[in-house]
Amino acid sequence: AAKERGKAGFCFYEPQMIARASERLALSTDLREGLGRDELRVCYQPKVDLRSRRLVGLEALARWAHPTRGHLPPSMFIPLAEDCGLIARLGERVVREVAGQIARWRAEGLPLVPVAINLSMQEIQGVNFVPSLLRTLAEAGLDRHAIEFEITETAAMTDVHTTLRHLRELEALGFRIAIDDFGTGFSSLSHLRQLPARTIKIDQSFVHGADASHHDREITEAIIALARKLRLHTVAEGVESEQQARWLVQAGCDIGQGYLFGRPLPPGETATLLAAGFAGAPIDA
Ligand code: C2E
Ligand code: MG
Ligand code: MG
Ligand code: MG
Repeated sequence: AAKERGKAGFCFYEPQMIARASERLALSTDLREGLGRDELRVCYQPKVDLRSRRLVGLEALARWAHPTRGHLPPSMFIPLAEDCGLIARLGERVVREVAGQIARWRAEGLPLVPVAINLSMQEIQGVNFVPSLLRTLAEAGLDRHAIEFEITETAAMTDVHTTLRHLRELEALGFRIAIDDFGTGFSSLSHLRQLPARTIKIDQSFVHGADASHHDREITEAIIALARKLRLHTVAEGVESEQQARWLVQAGCDIGQGYLFGRPLPPGETATLLAAGFAGAPIDA
């Protein structure tokens, strides 16, 4: 009987599912408390000019320092935060943390680059999204050129219209917007015309797949060519080898991000990176 119901989507009887549901409940309680206890951390990953390896940006990536489970990756808590109505608070925490960090780096006299903050579609469609973002930034005394936004679909969008309106408001206010994980999910060709973005980030699955598959390589090259036609910047995600970096340059991609140049780093190590201004050795050819 449980199986039958399962097909209809009403299966509450499988022991595994019960474990999962109570696990999620426990984790969502922890998250609610953790947000109040400052357990959220932010790491920073370099973005580089693929030819010179000059540092051109950082991406802020959230981590959760859970009191008993250790550091948890976003896949463990972003979808959860979306489901239990905590994403707005979480997003605000990330923005505050990043703003505070930029201010500290500035106080240390470090040369700064724009820091990208991830926003999920779900987060953007919140009723108070734009005004509360502006308030948080104003309170932190942050200049809007110091940050940019990367948008991803991590959950089903229930209100496309509102999401697009809020994104257009951000654009009109002068914020730079990138489409994350391009080639997957919402960030497909049909939406490219509607989304006010200056940059597309090519999903790492294409970059990785290109090593083994001609097909993935051709898709990546086509995405880069399309972006150039539309005067959009391209960032390749998940660059792990020199070989990948080289063919991305040949294909006309501007900027890269990935373990080849650096993993997401805690603020202290990021300061060293900012001071150096480079991540990885330049291509000589
Ligand atoms: P994303 O924005 O596409 O970020 C890139 C992800 O790829 C990061 O995973 C990063 O650690 C990983 N990565 C970077 N270079 C490489 C590489 O060379 N190889 C491989 N295999 N992976 C690489 P992470 O930190 O686990 O974040 C996962 C996703 O969670 C992010 O994907 C983003 O969509 C979301 N996320 C992270 N922080 C936040 C946040 O503050 N708010 C929201 N709404 N979403 C966030
Ligand atoms: Mg991103
Ligand atoms: Mg991505
Ligand atoms: Mg992603």
